[in-house]
Formats: sequence, structure tokens, C-alpha cells
Amino acid sequence: MIESTSSSRVDEVLTALEARYPDQPDFLQAVGEVVPSLVPVLERHPEFVESNILERIVEPERVLKFRVSWVDDEGHVNVNRGFRIGFNGAIGPYKGGLRFHPTVTEGVLKFLAFEQVFKNSLTGQPIGGGKGGSDFDPRGRSDGEVMRFCQSFMAELYRHIGPDTDIPAGDIGVGGREVGYLFGAYRKLTNTFTGVLTGRGLEYGGSLIRPEATGYGAVYFADEMARHGGRSLEGATCLVSGSGNVAQFAAEKLIELGARPVTLSDSSGWIHDPDGIDRNKLAWVMELKNERRGRISEYADEFTGASYHATDRSASSNPLWSVKSDCAFPCATQNEILGADARNLVEGGCWLVSEGANMPTDPTGQAVFREHGVLYGPGKAANAGGVAVSALEMSQASQRQFWDRGEVDRKLQGIMKNIHEMSAHAAAEYGFGQDLLHGSNVAGFLKVARAMLAQGVF
Ligand code: NDP
Repeated sequence: MIESTSSSRVDEVLTALEARYPDQPDFLQAVGEVVPSLVPVLERHPEFVESNILERIVEPERVLKFRVSWVDDEGHVNVNRGFRIGFNGAIGPYKGGLRFHPTVTEGVLKFLAFEQVFKNSLTGQPIGGGKGGSDFDPRGRSDGEVMRFCQSFMAELYRHIGPDTDIPAGDIGVGGREVGYLFGAYRKLTNTFTGVLTGRGLEYGGSLIRPEATGYGAVYFADEMARHGGRSLEGATCLVSGSGNVAQFAAEKLIELGARPVTLSDSSGWIHDPDGIDRNKLAWVMELKNERRGRISEYADEFTGASYHATDRSASSNPLWSVKSDCAFPCATQNEILGADARNLVEGGCWLVSEGANMPTDPTGQAVFREHGVLYGPGKAANAGGVAVSALEMSQASQRQFWDRGEVDRKLQGIMKNIHEMSAHAAAEYGFGQDLLHGSNVAGFLKVARAMLAQGVF
């Protein structure tokens, strides 16, 4: 009886959201992925139901939207849209990256900010969830254009953020270069030097291991899943998608652990190197993507035996996921593994998926993994290493301390192990067996819900 009440409550919340935000499918998908996990939690905690925690937690505390005008190298005035969403600040100041990509909309950022609430809670650090960005596309833009864009973006954003309010970081299209320009603008506008952005360079308050943290963390999480499943990453053939920050360092850690990454991609296509991407080849990719800002297609021209395949956007599946493998690390973007891709992965022998990207597997793909017993690490748990080390960067900045590489890496490993443990424990406790998707949703929710309850109704 109580179960059916909780489950109808969840359905009501979802239906109301669908009616309110019909133009935000990514956000609805992210919420739809979380709330079914909460049915047994609401059953056990009627106080959450009485305080309408569920209805409150799916609405952002605030959404900022602003114009960003900037001048390109030809002297033309361009206009983009800027956003910053503070989704939930119950357990700490808003924390989450900025995404600069033409696909950015309010709905995409709401999905990312919603995920971030649960992810940040899982890290055990005192950070709330937020996200922001712009539909500006830095690809093909000069450093001067990117700088002017970032300065104009910060000219509005600076009055809404701060080291105790909201601490942005990088995401797709926002790497060290962009964080540097954004931080410089904030510093000039506010006349302060504070830990207001993470992912900063080492010369101005950054932390060692922050660039590596998301990719390394996704592999540490995979290693935990593999060990608990009686398997090993050593010798495993791994599919990696993307070739940006997360993909590069996931590949680096895989190589270090004796695994064999064989694919990488960008939004134009993907490469397959059956001989494996070794340290030297990866160093070449890092130079290609981070210095020359080239395309992954060039890999196949450089290394014999490797092939390049352009992406066919009209196809219902991506052949990258058909390559025979043991493990998959989607590290590009949302919804890159659909049902057909998940089936291809299973048929190709894949037994583990660890998500470096946010929401890369759609619900049909997740159902396929569940049905076939694939060890599945959802993004909000598996890619939490980045934000966890961002929180460590904040601690170092506020204490004016600087920890060495080994210390930060050990803390990162400890945090990833802990997230795995908490998720596995919550899954078992709330009747979801070994399902880490449900487990991470429950574990992430409980801390935020208790904090909201304690703080009264806002
Ligand atoms: P980068 O901008 O460094 O790299 C993104 C990569 O994904 C690029 O190779 C890019 O190709 C590719 N890509 C982007 N959009 C698409 C698309 N629509 N279709 C296919 N490929 C695409 O970003 P990150 O590596 O930082 O981020 C990757 C993922 O990881 C994102 O989902 C992000 O939200 C998530 N993440 C990142 C964290 C971080 O610390 N950076 C933390 C946690 C999650 P191209 O060069 O052609 O654009």
C-alpha cells in the first residue's frame, strides 16, 4: 500500500515535470533516471514525503540567463546566450562546470546541474550542485576571440558567483585556457584573488591531478567494479570515446594499469587502432588536441594499422561500440550509447562500462546492460573524481596549501573507492541488489534530502 503510494507520488512528479518542461528532454531524462530509485527511500522516510522533498529537489533553486556580446577578429559583434544554474545548495555552495558548445540550452544545463547535485553529494565533500555555460563554440576561434568571449561572459557572471556561493569549473569546450581567461576577468572585476573557479593553472592556485581527475577517477571506479566482480582490467581491450580532457586521461590510466585502449573519437568521427593506443601514441594525441587543436582523423594518417571512420549522424547506432572489447569508457557526451549500441557492446563481449561522460547511456541502453549483467558505473558515480579533486583544490586554496601529486592521487583513489562502496551499500540496503545506478541515486539523494529537511522550507 505504502509502496504504491510512493510509486504514484513519483509518477505524479514526473508527469508534472513533463507537462511543465516539454522542451527539455535531456532534463526529463535525467530526472526520469533518478526518481524511480527513490520509491523505496520515500517508503522508509515519510518525513521526506511530508516535506515535499521530491517536488523541491527536481526544481533548480535559481536559473540565470544572460546575453554575452563579443567582438570577433574581423570586428563583427557576436551575440551568445550565457547561463548559470544553481540547482541545489543544501550541502554546500553550488559547484559544477561551464560548458561552451553550440548544443547548450537551458534544458541541457538543467540535466547536467541536476546530475551534479547527486554526484557532488556522493563525493562526501561539502558542495552543492550547479552548472552553466553558453552556446558559444570555441572550436576554430582564435585565442583572442576566446579571451574576449570569456571576458564578456564573466562581466555578467561575476556578480552571481564567489568562493562561498558558486564555484564554476570546466566541462566540454572549457579547459585550462578558458578557465584562465575567466579567472583573470573575475580577479580584475572583483579586485580579489580567491578560489572562485577550479581547474586553474598551477601557477595561480590550481591543484595537481585536477586535469587528470575525471579520467583517472572513471578508471579507478572501473577497477573497483572489476575487482568486486572477480575480474581485472589488466590486458582488457577498452573502447574509449571522445578525445578531450576526460578521454585522454582515462586512456592514460588504462595504459598504466595494463589495459589496451583501442578507440578514440570526436564529433566528426572515430579511430580504431587494433594494435592499441600506447603511451607514445597518446602523447601525440594530447599534442594534437590540446596544442594544435586538430581533429582525431589525423591519427589514422599518422599511425599505420589505424583506421578512421566518419560519424554518420543519421545512423541508429555508432559502429565504434561494435568493436570487440572487454570494457567501454564513454567519455564524449550525453546519449552516445543507445539501445542498439548497448546490444552491440554486449555481443562484442563487453562486460564493464564506466561512464566518464555525463549520461552517455540512454535508458534503453541501461536496460540492456542490466539484462546482461554488465558491470555498469553510471556517470554520476564514475566521473565524480573531477569534481572531487575540484573540492580538494578549494580546500588547498582556502588553506593556502599545496599538496603533492601522490597525496592528491591517493585522496582521489580513496574517494572513488568510497563512492563505489556507498553506492553498492545503498543498492543492497534499498532492495536493488548490486545495481550501482539505483545505489548511487539513493546514496546521493539521502544526504541532500536530510540537509534540506534540517534547513526548513525554501
Ligand atoms: P572536452 O571538451 O575536453 O572533450 C569533449 C570530447 O567529446 C571532444 O572529443 C569532443 O569532440 C567530443 N564531443 C563533444 N560533443 C560531442 C557530440 N555532440 N558528439 C560527439 N562527440 C562530442 O570535454 P571533457 O572531456 O571535459 O568532457 C567530456 C564529457 O565528460 C562530458 O560529458 C562532460 O560533461 C563530462 N565530464 C567532464 C568533467 C571534467 O572534469 N572535464 C567532469 C565530469 C564529467 P569535438 O572536439 O569534435 O568537439
